[in-house]
Amino acid sequence: MDLTRDEQMMQLALAEAKKAASLGETPIGAVLTWDGEVLTTAHNLRETGKMATAHAELLAIEEACRKLGGWRLHRAVLYVTLEPCPMCAGAIINARIPRVVYAAADKKAGCCGGLIDLFAAPFNHIPQVTAGVLKEEAQQLLTDFFTQLRQKPRPRRKLQDFMPKQKPENYGV
Ligand SMILES: [Zn+2]
Repeated sequence: MDLTRDEQMMQLALAEAKKAASLGETPIGAVLTWDGEVLTTAHNLRETGKMATAHAELLAIEEACRKLGGWRLHRAVLYVTLEPCPMCAGAIINARIPRVVYAAADKKAGCCGGLIDLFAAPFNHIPQVTAGVLKEEAQQLLTDFFTQLRQKPRPRRKLQDFMPKQKPENYGV
């Protein structure tokens, strides 16, 4: 099967999504190309990093800025397996990324038309969007992940799980 360049890059993003799943993270992966060549790859690390902003797209953008030594990603294409959320869509605008390619749509949080279309607003930068590239594979990864999660419910945490493990040194006698 001959894959288009978009499909090839999305396959790399899907491989990243699988890395996230193996860590117990929601399987979302991203690839950022510069002049058509892969510059950075990343996957969702929200649970591992205990960090609300550790989305695949944001990590790929941050690493690209570090590698390039600048914030203007005007020759980049961002590939991501799930439609970007408001935070990541905002980062895409701020980084001046000219083109975004995503796989599965996200009706709950997607900002390329899934929930709202942030790129239809008159910001100073409007990326071009290609949707649905390898969407079946991306959707299947997400479906499998959430099915597994429901089969293995996490134990309910008790109050003492949130308390300090050791008493502070100045705690009485
Ligand atoms: Zn996001």
